[in-house]
Amino acid sequence: MTHREHGEILVINAGSSSVKFGVYEFDSLEPLGHGLLDWAGSTRPGRASLTLRPHGRPPLEAELEAPDYRSGVCEAVQRLGKAGMVGANLSAVRAIGHRLIHGGEKIRAPVIIDRAMKETVRGFAHLAPLHIPAGLEAIEACEATMPDVLQVGLFDTAFFADIPPVAYLYPVPYSWYRDWGIRRFGFHGTSHAYCAGRAAEMLGRDSAGLRLVICHLGHGASATAVRGGVAVTNTMGYTPLEGFMMGTRSGTVDPGILLHVLRERGLSVEELDEALHKQSGLLGISGISSDFRRVEAAADDGHERAQLALGMYAYRVRAMVGALAVTLGGIDALVFTGGIGENSVRLRRDVCDGLECIGVRLDEERNRTAGPDEDIAAPGSPARVLLIHTREEYMIARETRRMALERAGER
Ligand code: ADP
Repeated sequence: MTHREHGEILVINAGSSSVKFGVYEFDSLEPLGHGLLDWAGSTRPGRASLTLRPHGRPPLEAELEAPDYRSGVCEAVQRLGKAGMVGANLSAVRAIGHRLIHGGEKIRAPVIIDRAMKETVRGFAHLAPLHIPAGLEAIEACEATMPDVLQVGLFDTAFFADIPPVAYLYPVPYSWYRDWGIRRFGFHGTSHAYCAGRAAEMLGRDSAGLRLVICHLGHGASATAVRGGVAVTNTMGYTPLEGFMMGTRSGTVDPGILLHVLRERGLSVEELDEALHKQSGLLGISGISSDFRRVEAAADDGHERAQLALGMYAYRVRAMVGALAVTLGGIDALVFTGGIGENSVRLRRDVCDGLECIGVRLDEERNRTAGPDEDIAAPGSPARVLLIHTREEYMIARETRRMALERAGER
C-alpha cells in the first residue's frame, strides 16, 4: 500500500457496541481499507475482536484488551498504524471524520471538533444515549493517540435541518416542543444526502428542481423526500423508532396501543421499550428473524407469517413513498438503497407494484439483473427508479477533506 504525499483520512463510525473504521487516500478519496472493532465479537469480558481489511492484502484478525470503549478505540487505532493502513505510527493521518448521530436542532453542517464543540455534542447525549457517548469516547481516543490531527464531526440529523415546521412538529401540546424540544429530527441523513447527490449525478441533472423519494432500507429503515437537493421530510422522527417497519423495530403504530398495553395489559415501560425496539418489525411478525434474507427464505418455503411480514413491509414502504411523492407534487426518481433496498428484487417489485399512479414503472428484467448504481425503471417510465449503493463512510471522508482544505485555506 502506498501512502501518498498528502496522507490519509480516517473515518470512524462509533456504534453502541462496535466501531467501524475506514481509511481513504486524502487526495483521491480512494478507499485504502476498513476495519471493525466489536465487543460482541469476543466471548471474554473486557476484550473485543478487531478485523482489519487493508485493500489488496489479506485481512488481519485479532483479539485485544478493551476494558472500556475509549481504550478499545485507542488500541484499535494503534493497530491500524501497526498494520500499515494509515502509515507507520499513524503518521499519515491528516484528518479524522466522525459519524455523530445527533446534532440537535442547531447543527446544520459538518463541524470541526474542539473543546467547545465536544461540550455542545455532549448536550445531545439524551437524544441518542447509545451513540453520542460512544462518539465522544472515540473522539477522545483519537485526541490521545493523534493529538495534533484535525477532527471533524458529521451529524446524521444535519441533512434534515431545513425541514419545515409543518413536517417537524407533532400535533401534541405545543409546549412539548417549546419546553422539551420534542420534534421530528430525521435520521440516516448521511446516506440520504449521499444518495440525493448521486441520484442527480446518475440522472445527469442539476439538483435544482429535482424531486426524489429515497428509501434507505437496512436493519433500520427510513425514507426522505428531497426537493432541489434539500430534505423536505424524513420518516424517522424524534427517535429512530418512527416510520417504516424495520428488522426488530415497530416503526409507526397507533399511540393508543401503547397506552392500552401499559394500562390494561400490565406491561412496564421497560417491557414496552424492549417490545417496540427489539421484538417487533420483521422479527415480531414472522417469528423467524429480523434479517430480511432469512424471512425471504422462509417465505419461499411457504411460511405464512414470513409471507405476511414481507407483505406488510412492502405495503408500508409503498404507502409512504406515495405520501412523500404527494408532498413533492410528484417525483422524478425513486431511490432504493441499504442492504434490503440494494439487494432484494422482490421487495423492489412489491413496492413498485401499485406506484404506477405516481409515474413509477419498473422494468422487471432490469430489476432482476441490475446492480448498484443503475436505473431499473422501464424505458418510458415518467419517474426513474434508481438502485444506489450507499457510501456513508465515503461521504464522511469527502466532507472531512473539504473541511480540512477549507481550514488550510484560512490559514
Ligand atoms: P445496517 O442497517 O445495519 O447498515 P444493511 O444496510 O447492511 O444494515 O442491511 C441489512 C439488511 O439487508 C438485512 O435485513 C439483510 O437481510 C438485508 N440483505 C442483505 N443482503 C440481502 C439480499 N441479497 N437480499 C435480501 N436482503 C438482503
